[in-house]
Amino acid sequence: MDTQMLIGAKFEAGTETDEKILNPRNGDVIVDLPEASLAQVEAAVDAAEGAFVSWSQTTPGQRAGYLLAIADAIEKDAAGFAALESLNCGKPINAVLNDEIPAIVDCYRFFAGAIRTLQAPVSGEYLPGFTSMIRRDAVGVIGSIAPWNYPLMMMAWKLAPALAGGNTVVFKPSEQTPLTALKLAKVMADILPEGVVNVVLGRGESVGNALINNPKIQMLSITGDIATGKKIMTAAAKTVKRTHLELGGKAPVIVHDDADIDAAVAAIRTFGYYNAGQDCTAACRIYASDKIYDRFVADLAAAVSTIKFNQADDAENEIGPLISKRQRDRVESFVTRAAEHKHMEVVAGGKLGSDKGFFYTPTVIAGATQDDEIVRREVFGPVVSVTRFTEAEQAVAWANDSDYGLASSVWTKDISRAMQTAAKLRYGCTWINTHFMLCNEMPHGGMKQSGYGKDMSIYALEDYTTVRHVMIAH
Ligand code: NAD
Repeated sequence: MDTQMLIGAKFEAGTETDEKILNPRNGDVIVDLPEASLAQVEAAVDAAEGAFVSWSQTTPGQRAGYLLAIADAIEKDAAGFAALESLNCGKPINAVLNDEIPAIVDCYRFFAGAIRTLQAPVSGEYLPGFTSMIRRDAVGVIGSIAPWNYPLMMMAWKLAPALAGGNTVVFKPSEQTPLTALKLAKVMADILPEGVVNVVLGRGESVGNALINNPKIQMLSITGDIATGKKIMTAAAKTVKRTHLELGGKAPVIVHDDADIDAAVAAIRTFGYYNAGQDCTAACRIYASDKIYDRFVADLAAAVSTIKFNQADDAENEIGPLISKRQRDRVESFVTRAAEHKHMEVVAGGKLGSDKGFFYTPTVIAGATQDDEIVRREVFGPVVSVTRFTEAEQAVAWANDSDYGLASSVWTKDISRAMQTAAKLRYGCTWINTHFMLCNEMPHGGMKQSGYGKDMSIYALEDYTTVRHVMIAH
């Protein structure tokens, strides 16, 4: 399998590392992981800096044309992209083909349209004899760093608004899941002018570190762990780079006594476990009213026990494996520690899902309390905890009692109660009687240590452009 990186106009091989890119379904090696040298990272940044001069002066309409061509190319080869993403991440092929690829294509199309309508405030004469105007211009060269849970989607969320805004990019996919980024790099090299997008491979502590410390980079965009986000903020401080941070999550789900329990259970069955729970918005931390708690736990455990995974035929699968043995072992250790506490009960799952590969059974842990690790820490796996509450105010306070602040949901038939709860939740997103639903028109991003900066929507375009004042004397 070809693992050459895109640097300027050229595809180049990296140097060997000890790391392998694995198939999470069976643990087999797909290909060795090569890594960019420091000189190659520097060359990629130089290529992006060189390309910025003309790319930033293109019109929104011209850039829209390029983005639409990228969208068309992905759509045309949807099966090829889906197969490769499924191989590298272990995701069920149908989830990639039917859920992810259409959203990815739509992301490039959304930003193609959005950049043509991006408004700056009205100009005016605020001093006699002078007319002021506002410009929204590109920031510069952007260093983009992505995680392994949705490789092609994260690339779209980062590249589409960055390119639409007139920036050029050096992109580093996760060292565990770089294959679709390399495939898309080939497509982009055919469509875009030289140097506008560069793709370098490698680990965080080497290639990522070189990227975030490069003084020619004007902005860093990262989706990843809180600890990584902190390192990026520290590095950015040295040359005062703009940062855009999408970090972890631990989404609370408040199920009131008047909720449609069947709907809540069905949603959690799907969106607590989608992508094997490796999702920063996963419905993983449930607060269920005392009045419906027993029925809710029984129904959820029964529903989760029917989730299909590790079937011989992947077309049947609802979820896939964890990304790595390390991640599966981490998930297993969370469940083992929880099970050691008498007040908690593993009511579904709680064991390895396969001999080969990195599957873990979809798991529900009932009886969890606010101080338990399973409630407080991000598991990033197919594990949902359920905590009982008596007072609605208590549920909101517990939901907010978290370092994370990305996504949340509230379930009730009472619209006033829903709106009051939504107003009090300190999360970048609150869903009412649903969970997980995203669209390219609406922003996605966190509060608190989940980070700041929005992906998707016109707000991402604001993040990836800068406001300038131009004044004319007359
Ligand atoms: P990670 O932080 O380990 O890695 C993310 C990326 O950062 C990788 O490309 C990695 O190589 C790079 N990196 C790591 N250390 C670095 C360093 N010192 N300098 C520069 N780059 C470095 O995260 P992960 O394990 O790939 O992904 C899982 C995490 O991402 C979870 O915490 C999850 O919640 C979060 N996530 C957040 C969102 C969101 O939208 N908020 C979306 C997806 C994933």
